Amino acid sequence: MVGLAIAGAVAATAAGYQSMAPTGQWFGRAFHGLPRGSKQIALTFDDGPNDPHTLNLLDILAKHHVIATFFLIGRYARQRPEIAVEIAKRGHLIGNHTFTHPLLIFQSDSRVRQEILQCREAITDAVGEHSNLFRPPWGGRRPGIFGLVRQLGLEPIMWNVTGYDWNPPSSGYIEQKVSGKVRGGEVILLHDGGHKAFGADRSRTVAAVSRLIPRYKSEGYDFVSVREMMRSQGS
Ligand SMILES: [Zn+2]
Repeated sequence: MVGLAIAGAVAATAAGYQSMAPTGQWFGRAFHGLPRGSKQIALTFDDGPNDPHTLNLLDILAKHHVIATFFLIGRYARQRPEIAVEIAKRGHLIGNHTFTHPLLIFQSDSRVRQEILQCREAITDAVGEHSNLFRPPWGGRRPGIFGLVRQLGLEPIMWNVTGYDWNPPSSGYIEQKVSGKVRGGEVILLHDGGHKAFGADRSRTVAAVSRLIPRYKSEGYDFVSVREMMRSQGS
């Protein structure tokens, strides 16, 4: 009995971990990067559009001729569609990050569907056609979510490096978190907005990105969209 109880507890903990772990595949497969050693890096920015940090970031990306992937929160795209338009105009990929950013683990199928469709509509109203990439808030999922996502014609995208830029003490901290992990083939999670409220200060993320890009470009890395990275994998 004791053995069983312990085994059960371990399994429950592991399942809990898997439901948030960005590279865990228990609850369905999702793209999260290339095998180590690729010369590609994909920067991804969640929780925008945001003001003024999204536009500042777009200027940095343009300066270095880098294409990135932005997972937008639908309600912010509704609030400030012109920023979403700017992201699209500069050639970046736009993906779906739900309408209100709930943790999907605790939502019913119909709520998940509604969140995704409302977000898609908000982005479509702002920029028209956009990518079919989807990222769950906090990477949270439960069995069945990715199936539902695919039924709606979307492709779930996770990540394998995080910049821990939710509330960083400095831009150097973010830079260090990312650079400690880069070996090539990474999908890097960063934020140009905040899920709690519009207007989150992401100046540290923008500053970190302005240093990370030239550093890795000078080492021969290529910054690409998630879609391009998936193409090189052949998926
Ligand atoms: Zn998010």
